[in-house]
Amino acid sequence: MSCDFSALLNIDTTDPDQVAALMQQCTSVVFDPMLWVWAIVFTVLCAVVGGWIGTYKKAVVRDAILGATLGPIGWIISLCLPVRAQQCAQCGTRAPGVDKFCRRCGHSLQAANGLRKP
Ligand SMILES: [Zn+2]
Repeated sequence: MSCDFSALLNIDTTDPDQVAALMQQCTSVVFDPMLWVWAIVFTVLCAVVGGWIGTYKKAVVRDAILGATLGPIGWIISLCLPVRAQQCAQCGTRAPGVDKFCRRCGHSLQAANGLRKP
């Protein structure tokens, strides 16, 4: 007996041995180490892609967490969120995240925040 929907539909619910066997089969699938390896690999991969999106949104940690927790849905949320605001290191003026230079003093915002150009 395998743990799938056809086994669940065809099971004789009046037979406790059959129900117990199916339950044991499905429980063993959950504790299969390969399932957890794939789950961890998928989570790390989603976090990396989320962090990559975050480099463009200037919120790497936020978008990596969104990617790790929500997967592709987190990527879509990251893409919909606005670019994070930044602060000029020279004069302290807050600027939109897309700006490369301070609108008040002209100081480079990318160098001030230690960000590399993509
Ligand atoms: Zn400035």
